[in-house]
Amino acid sequence: MSSFISKRVQSLPPYLFSIIDEKKKLLQKKGVDVIDLGIGAPDLPTPPFIVNRLIRELENPGNFKYSSYSGCKEYREAVASFYKKQYNVDLDPDTEVLTLIGSKEGIAHVIPALIDPGDTVLIPDPGYPVYRTATDLAGGSCADLPLDHEDYRPMFTHISDSIREKAKLMFLNYPSNPTAATIELDIFESAIAFAKKHKIAIIHDSAYGLVTFDSYKAPSILQVNGAKEIAVEFGSLSKSFNMTGWRIGYVAGNREIIQALSKVKSNTDTCQFLPIQYAAAEALNSDLSSVDENNHIYKQRLEKMINALRNIGIAVKKPRGTFFIWAAVPSGLTSQQFTEKLLEEAGVIVTPGNAFGPSGEGYFRISLSVATDRLDEAVKRMMTLDLEVMNHDSNH
Ligand SMILES: *Cc1c(COP(=O)(O)O)cnc(C)c1O
Repeated sequence: MSSFISKRVQSLPPYLFSIIDEKKKLLQKKGVDVIDLGIGAPDLPTPPFIVNRLIRELENPGNFKYSSYSGCKEYREAVASFYKKQYNVDLDPDTEVLTLIGSKEGIAHVIPALIDPGDTVLIPDPGYPVYRTATDLAGGSCADLPLDHEDYRPMFTHISDSIREKAKLMFLNYPSNPTAATIELDIFESAIAFAKKHKIAIIHDSAYGLVTFDSYKAPSILQVNGAKEIAVEFGSLSKSFNMTGWRIGYVAGNREIIQALSKVKSNTDTCQFLPIQYAAAEALNSDLSSVDENNHIYKQRLEKMINALRNIGIAVKKPRGTFFIWAAVPSGLTSQQFTEKLLEEAGVIVTPGNAFGPSGEGYFRISLSVATDRLDEAVKRMMTLDLEVMNHDSNH
């Protein structure tokens, strides 16, 4: 529109949620009680023991100055001891851990730290949109990391020779947003072996690492022998401790990558507010019982929603992690058509799969991070949907 705007920003894809947002507002104006299952942030509050630590730290005027660039020692040590307890991984808090202002910030900044314009980045399709847009902004070239459509695991042998030779960087994300896919350590082992052989750095996004159900425990990529030679793992307190607005995360692993990211960041920001880092240290040092309590709530919501979907003929495999359900839309409809019909006929918003990449077409994502009574209401409305009618309508 304006010549002041860079070509990179002009060519960023339009915000895919905006069409749905417009519709939502229109329906709300007409008095429709819209239930938004498109949201990707927890509805539950931050546990009080974390809030209390923040309040205590706010009373110390010594905490109002700049943090050190890499983050305060207590937080970096809490990340390291969390890795030791949770995964039996040893990390040097001074060189192998860095504080982030939310993991999204780190994910976006690590790309220009590692690639030059024109370099190729392997990105899971479907995947978290930031991998793609941050690569575009850094002048990089996105290549799809092929995933199988059963379990959404990487298929390294399906990467063409030319892409493999050009790739400098690869993103992985398990438990996954949007597909809710989970893996065992062997997938990380083969990823590390592949990346070492072809000299590709690995960025693992572990935002949902603690959001898991029953006996499943999500592995860390840093558990693989030699992972630190080639990989870093991004972590976030947003989803596991209901701290999205606090903006606190970390990166752990390869020190060269962390040093490069730290260089970008020290020229961009000056780390997070100290009281927030101390409160986050309190969270990571805890016995994680608050995380278990959250997971229990998500699991109950998950079971309700899966039953509702099965009742209306939408088959879903029960995920082992994240607060998302990823499912195929009824045959004959596109993702967009299905999500629009769900909004018009049931007043329920879900996210069309193609918002997460071209391979998401034909799927939709439900978020379980809405109050349980709202979810119950959504379930009730969805039960009355007539998918036969929906299929029929789509032929016109
Ligand atoms: C929410 C999310 C993030 C970002 O988390 P913040 O720490 O709040 O920035 C990163 N990756 C995935 C896959 C997410 O869903």
